[in-house]
Amino acid sequence: SRAQAMEVTASPDVTYADIGGIDEQIREVREAVEDPLENPEQFEAVGVDPPSGVLLHGPPGTGKTMLAKAVANEADATFIKMAGSELVRKFIGEGARLVRDLFELAADREPAVIFIDEIDAVAAKRTDSKTSGDAEVQRTMMQLLSEMDGFDERGEIRIMAATNRFDMLDEAILRPGRFDRLIEVPEPDAEGRVRILEIHTSEMNVADDVDVADVARELEGYSGADIAALATEAGMFAIRDDRTEVHRVDFEQAREKLQDAEATDDLVLN
Ligand code: ATP
Repeated sequence: SRAQAMEVTASPDVTYADIGGIDEQIREVREAVEDPLENPEQFEAVGVDPPSGVLLHGPPGTGKTMLAKAVANEADATFIKMAGSELVRKFIGEGARLVRDLFELAADREPAVIFIDEIDAVAAKRTDSKTSGDAEVQRTMMQLLSEMDGFDERGEIRIMAATNRFDMLDEAILRPGRFDRLIEVPEPDAEGRVRILEIHTSEMNVADDVDVADVARELEGYSGADIAALATEAGMFAIRDDRTEVHRVDFEQAREKLQDAEATDDLVLN
């Protein structure tokens, strides 16, 4: 149903402090999304329009959804999330209808942040063999573009989207007045991984033998989501061993377990 396709949160509980390793991206999102929501009169006074839409792009699990939630929280805005894959519907006109509903709901609940995850599902290049010829997907994208074109940039609705496949996007959605502010959210670097592990262990009962920076050094190639999973898994090892403190060995075992799981995934995929 339509209601299930959208996730609506009056004010999400994610804050900027929960997001590690992407301070520059936080700064850019605040400028492009939070400032126009909080100080529209400043844009009015200067006489410029804020960016119409903000596109976050980068690998999975790096904090794109968190960023969108945190900015909605900070601006006291309703957060309305829709997955691009949900917009790709079987019946003619259904996707376009959902897009209209999305913008109508935002207008009802403003200030609001609309967040379309996996935007590539509705906005892939026409030449892409998987989607070309899919007139229904095209129709949905046209509806989205027309909603954005008819949009007041100085109003109290901001539009964000995310993708892991930036190269697949149709350039039509990147034109001025549409998703005209691009923010790349990369995999965390060494320092970022330490910060993210600190965040995800901050409420854990961690034993004195655990040096978070030391643990993080072993996590090259881990995304933020991978690090969150590692922390949870380490806690699970402590619980299995009937302890209330999480030790260094728990993190080591967690790392091995996640590596094995990944190796199995690779086998299945290949
Ligand atoms: P996808 O492209 O797969 O939708 P995403 O970039 O939107 O991924 P999120 O949904 O924001 O990723 O992150 C998933 C989870 O991973 C978060 O709920 C959080 O626990 C953890 N996480 C990811 N990135 C970070 C980060 N930079 N700092 C702290 N935690 C993070």
